[in-house]
Amino acid sequence: MVELTFYGGVEEIGGNKILLEDNGTKIFLDFGMGFKRRGLYFEEFLAPRTANGIGDFIELNLIPDIKGIYREDLLEHFGRKAEESDIAGVLLSHAHADHANYISFLHKDIPIYCGETCKYILDAVDEQSQRNLECEVINYKQRPIFRRDYGKTPINRLFKTFRTGKKITIDSLEIEPIHIDHSVPGSYGFIIHASEGAIVYTGDIRMHGLHAGMTTDFINAAKEAKPIAMITEGTRIDRKKTDESEHKIYNESKKEISKCSNLSIVDFNFKDVDRFTTFYKIAKELGKKLVISFKHACFLERYTKDKKLRTPSSIDENIFLLKPKRKTGTYADEDYTEKYIKNRLKYPNILTSEEITKNPSYYIVVLNFWYFNTLVDLKPKNGVYIHSLSEPFNEEMEISYERMQNWLRHFDLNFVQSHCSGHINGSDLKELIQTINPKMLYPIHTEHPEIFKKFPLNVEIVKEGKMYKI
Ligand SMILES: [Zn+2]
Ligand SMILES: [Zn+2]
Repeated sequence: MVELTFYGGVEEIGGNKILLEDNGTKIFLDFGMGFKRRGLYFEEFLAPRTANGIGDFIELNLIPDIKGIYREDLLEHFGRKAEESDIAGVLLSHAHADHANYISFLHKDIPIYCGETCKYILDAVDEQSQRNLECEVINYKQRPIFRRDYGKTPINRLFKTFRTGKKITIDSLEIEPIHIDHSVPGSYGFIIHASEGAIVYTGDIRMHGLHAGMTTDFINAAKEAKPIAMITEGTRIDRKKTDESEHKIYNESKKEISKCSNLSIVDFNFKDVDRFTTFYKIAKELGKKLVISFKHACFLERYTKDKKLRTPSSIDENIFLLKPKRKTGTYADEDYTEKYIKNRLKYPNILTSEEITKNPSYYIVVLNFWYFNTLVDLKPKNGVYIHSLSEPFNEEMEISYERMQNWLRHFDLNFVQSHCSGHINGSDLKELIQTINPKMLYPIHTEHPEIFKKFPLNVEIVKEGKMYKI
């Protein structure tokens, strides 16, 4: 008998943590952070305490209270005894935090199965992020009760990577990871061949992206497997199909940037390689240079490892790295303590904001809102700012959005919104489900699971922590 228990992603977007048990084999499908749930209790200056190990997280139901899955040091801090793990692995669908980040808490003996490129991206995140308990996905240093026992060398988690077409065997389970299109490369859906039949998991998926063909490969394989159950994402089940596309962003953005006779600034998620490629292409075609940050370089250098992504090198002739101001504000080498910057200070394509101001129309700067203080040095009067990200969908984001608008007004920047979603719309999803035609459907990663009830097939509105037998 196959059993499914959903510990996250239930009536929320992201935070997927699905336990699948079959004849004594237990695996998790993703183990992500639930942003909304975390935001119910925490904000910038109120965070879960590391000193309490997994305690604060368990109390507030940010992670499930189950045996045999957590790190020994974090259990100890919570006043519990270390446990052995009985989980045979985590199938990680992709490198977004709402699917990957809470792997941080998991026992070191649990192997993580993910796509080769997904691992590259996790490495890039690891290289440039500040260490904290909620992002120790790749490795961690033990934090036992006594300081003298603190781990000196990091414990590396065991990653087993795959590419599409490869099969994975975990005990009695045979798993087919199949590439899909989403807003981060190295995204996969899974077909899990269990004792009772095939179980399909979509991960995060879309049909309107540049690589819809990969999603079609997944749909065809899933259909052929005649699944007894399918776990699907439903982020945008309430949205109809529109004309959104990467190509539309390319056209809109190129038009705005070519019209601009001053500095062009863009913001997009650097995990989205298609979006990077769009702006890189625009820069090249318009004879401009794309200016990225040292953090972005960490990602770009990982992308070049995957030849299929065809991304340029971080020292490409059309790319510059923007040197941030630190300590003395003089850009002296000694000002930089972060390893990811120090290791790249000798690159030939580094420039400062002051250099950009000498010829602003020559550049397109990729600048995230959190680094808007750089605008003081860039002095971008009458330029354009392309917001290639989703519009705010909660109160906190709206506050930041207001602040962003103030900055734009202050520098007379022309605001342009141009984005397309990483998630499938309701119309495409309905078609996808009907084609795959599973015996039972479990919608997750959605705030509107009830909409699926209108579909002409068996739909289970999932309850958190309840075990479903198939
Ligand atoms: Zn997600
Ligand atoms: Zn995602």
